Amino acid sequence: METKKLYYVDPHMAQFSARVLSCKAGEANFEVILDQTAFYPEGGGQAADTGTLGGVRVLDTREKDDAIIHFCDGALTVGDTVEGIIDYDLRFDRMQQHTGEHIVSGLINARWGFHNTGFHMGTESTTIDFDGVIPPEALPGIELQANEAIWKNLAVRCWIPTPDELPGVAYRTKRALPWPVRIVEVPGYDSCACCGTHTAFTGEVGLIKLLSAIPFRGGTRMEMACGRRALNILNTAFEQNRQVSQAFSAKMQETGEAARKMNEALAAQKYRITGLEKQIFAGISAGYAEKGDVLHFEEGLDNVAVRELADAIAGLCGGTAAVFSGSDENGYAFCLVSRSGDLRQLGKEMTKALNGRGGGKPIFQQGRVSACRTQIEEFFRK
Ligand SMILES: [Zn+2]
Repeated sequence: METKKLYYVDPHMAQFSARVLSCKAGEANFEVILDQTAFYPEGGGQAADTGTLGGVRVLDTREKDDAIIHFCDGALTVGDTVEGIIDYDLRFDRMQQHTGEHIVSGLINARWGFHNTGFHMGTESTTIDFDGVIPPEALPGIELQANEAIWKNLAVRCWIPTPDELPGVAYRTKRALPWPVRIVEVPGYDSCACCGTHTAFTGEVGLIKLLSAIPFRGGTRMEMACGRRALNILNTAFEQNRQVSQAFSAKMQETGEAARKMNEALAAQKYRITGLEKQIFAGISAGYAEKGDVLHFEEGLDNVAVRELADAIAGLCGGTAAVFSGSDENGYAFCLVSRSGDLRQLGKEMTKALNGRGGGKPIFQQGRVSACRTQIEEFFRK
């Protein structure tokens, strides 16, 4: 059984009529073959079309021995003429990604001679793998050239050369392919063997945005987006940048510099706070000089500061310093420090009694407890 491939006759065909040649129950659904179809089967890095056929849903489409098999969630009657409607927004998106991919691969092949060794169309972006190293700084130039190809609105030519013509046709490939070969040509930019569906003109791709190029298996993995996807990605980034610009009171073209300055200012503040804390901790610990075991509560300290204060007190009190910071609602961070002796047993008993966890070394134990202040005080009164 052979299916006429309407998606090659007109890649923009979203709706068509066809006769049902066969319908058989498969493992999970019904496998329908038509005399002709606009449903593109999975292939060449392009995903299978979905849609509806005579009212039932087409979940997947595959090619097998010249027949296109539609995997449907319902049965169709053999001999009936049915109407097919493909999910055209999805298909058109894939055509935009696919034609855009050819333009970029053609430019890279022309410039460095690298070949495309992998192509994956994800839901957010598309990745292309190349068998050579593309310097990231070359991306803006390639991106500009690729978009110039769009602005020229070139007619994309898809054709199958005759066996006589084929040897004279130049196309991007690692090795010569046996006839028949379907050639997809973007004049002046690319010529490649491909079975996918493409836009009729480069202008339909709309926009090509190269997102990244990272080392991958000795070559490069490039991430890109075309058409609506590119617009969506750029809009999201633009909106985030607008918010950052507002938060920093910086121009949208200067948010990077504003963020760097903010980080520097925060680092300077942190340095200053640490210095001030040291002074305060020295004052607190002086009050505990030679007092033996000490239990101290201090508000608003982070884990590092809790340990610093416990350490400062333990240096002067002559016993074990236990410092807690937190609240009855959210629990307390703690640190136990002793200049002599082993605190592991005390730490274990305390976390057990106060519903906490922690650990450390013999001379210090650190962690958190979920208990209120009176319970902590009660524990240390024993
Ligand atoms: Zn292709």
